[in-house]
Amino acid sequence: MITTTRTLGIKKNIALVAHDNCKSQLLKWTTRHQNLLQRHNLFATGTTGALLSKECHLTIERMISGPMGGDQQLGAKISEGGIDILIFFWDPLNAVPHDPDVKALLRIASVWNIPVATNSSTADFIMDSELINAEVDIDIPDYQAYLGDRT
Ligand code: PGA
Repeated sequence: MITTTRTLGIKKNIALVAHDNCKSQLLKWTTRHQNLLQRHNLFATGTTGALLSKECHLTIERMISGPMGGDQQLGAKISEGGIDILIFFWDPLNAVPHDPDVKALLRIASVWNIPVATNSSTADFIMDSELINAEVDIDIPDYQAYLGDRT
């Protein structure tokens, strides 16, 4: 795959998602990092976003609820370069009805090489990194080259 570079700005587009059993954990995590998070643009699936906006008074652009298509909305944004970091407190111990969407979201985040945290330790590492407040170049697939190869 031929790659090119995308620059993540100082102010990043951060997506927040938590499965039901992990919502209280994400709420605690968000509260802990609230001062830093409010310097960035925040996005979330419907229920997660409603909970975090209410409890933490953060401005969050909300998708519809995950099982109703919100994970796919975030995936589409990632493909378009509209999300820079995915914080996804995914529940590894319980099945969810929208498991294919969950896999698709994690897959597309890997395709476009954005930083992803699926647990609070990794999410802490991301927020504690000096890169969170810096411009960062990431390698991404060169879509024009990809298309050129196929047409
Ligand atoms: P929710 O969706 O925030 O609407 O609960 C999260 C998920 O993808 O399960």
